[in-house]
Amino acid sequence: MPTTPQQKDYYATLGIKRTATPDEIRKAFRKLARKYHPDVNPNNKKAEEKFKEISEANDILSDEKKRKVFDQFGFYSDNIDPAAAAAAARGGYGAGPGAGPRGGPQEVPFDFGGFDFSDFQTQTGQRPPSAQQESSWGGFRDIFSGMFSGQKQRGAQAGTDLEYKVTVDFWTAVRGGTTRLQIQRQETCPTCKGKASTGSVQVCAECGGTGQVTQMGGQMKFNIQCPRCSGTGKLQSACPTCYGEGTVARAETIDFRVKPGTRDGQRIRLAGKGNSGTNGGAPGDLYLIIKSGTHPVFERSGDNILVSVPVTVSEAALGAKIEVPTVDGRAQLKIPPGTQSGQKLRMRERGVPSAANESIRGDQIVTVDIVVPQLRDERSKEILREFAKLNPEDPRTAIWEKV
Ligand SMILES: [Zn+2]
Ligand SMILES: [Zn+2]
Repeated sequence: MPTTPQQKDYYATLGIKRTATPDEIRKAFRKLARKYHPDVNPNNKKAEEKFKEISEANDILSDEKKRKVFDQFGFYSDNIDPAAAAAAARGGYGAGPGAGPRGGPQEVPFDFGGFDFSDFQTQTGQRPPSAQQESSWGGFRDIFSGMFSGQKQRGAQAGTDLEYKVTVDFWTAVRGGTTRLQIQRQETCPTCKGKASTGSVQVCAECGGTGQVTQMGGQMKFNIQCPRCSGTGKLQSACPTCYGEGTVARAETIDFRVKPGTRDGQRIRLAGKGNSGTNGGAPGDLYLIIKSGTHPVFERSGDNILVSVPVTVSEAALGAKIEVPTVDGRAQLKIPPGTQSGQKLRMRERGVPSAANESIRGDQIVTVDIVVPQLRDERSKEILREFAKLNPEDPRTAIWEKV
């Protein structure tokens, strides 16, 4: 059983007095963090260790409750209630620093926060109170596993999905094409290949590979999970590139195909283009939500194209074959004699190809917009007056009948 007393002086680590104010603690940590941050010390193991130490010191000392526990016992554990522990210490059952440990870690339920109750048992003949603090042990473990990366006991984790809104121009949505988009995604770290750690696995020097260390706190002795290796007994350096995350954020330019007939609001799924997983976990997907651009003449309604076309009075009255714009270029449209303004003429399969089914195509719906001529010459006016005499019907008759 390892009995490496591991007394850390967080105050010394941060180079501050025990009476330091929260502000002084914060300033001291920031100053050191700037100096030892892995970003400014790439591949510098010493700096990395130092950074972990100051982070740990800051974590404890910047928290009023944790700091109290540390001040009292010389170390910190989530499971120590300052008041209860102080009372216990006064009770005098704690072992002195020289007392040999009795019982093994097996007898000492770890879920009771790592207290070594072996001496407690001997003196009182009682088992410690039942271990009901399982959950708080998890909290303790989390604190340290967060600090000492490289020993994270996690399996394959799938990457998360990404969602981006993309505006594609009108023609790309109608005819299809490729569009380019810059995205930010978590990619498998190129240094550690997603394993989060680098180098060979070594026996943890802190605990000698046992996964546990003993700490002295005042008169009490505590067995705790080795914070260095999170109780695994093994050490592997956290990857310097991804700081033990297994993934790194990368900007990536994605070229993606837009199918002909892609509609506004349509989602395009690019499988495996989301965030990378870790430890061999599958990558997430990338979802692109299409925002289709507009056009000054054509309006889209699903797979149909709506267009308003000016028609002269004589074309509408006599009927005509006129040229109208379509998404494929000019096309002939027959205006039947007697076409009214606002009337809609359907041009079958002159719309947009369906993105869902290539063999289906929408229609173009032409709205007739009759343009009344501005008469400038006498002859035209004469003709129209004559035309009026020949056609004396009142177009408002139907209205009067309904009023
Ligand atoms: Zn890495
Ligand atoms: Zn260890």
